[in-house]
Amino acid sequence: MADLYAKYNCTYCQEDISGLRVKCVECTDFDLCLQCFSAGAEIGQHKNDHSYQFMDSVFPL
Ligand SMILES: [Zn+2]
Ligand SMILES: [Zn+2]
Repeated sequence: MADLYAKYNCTYCQEDISGLRVKCVECTDFDLCLQCFSAGAEIGQHKNDHSYQFMDSVFPL
């Protein structure tokens, strides 16, 4: 199987992220699911006043 679809896990709750992924633009490799984002999750160096980028599940070619 080709690894065409990267799997993303929420950095906070470790759940697979399906659908909208919330990516922190200030931390590297930091993704949140929508639930953790709405809850204002903070972990490690990440604070919830960081800037976010919303990534939908459609991958650009
Ligand atoms: Zn989560
Ligand atoms: Zn961050």
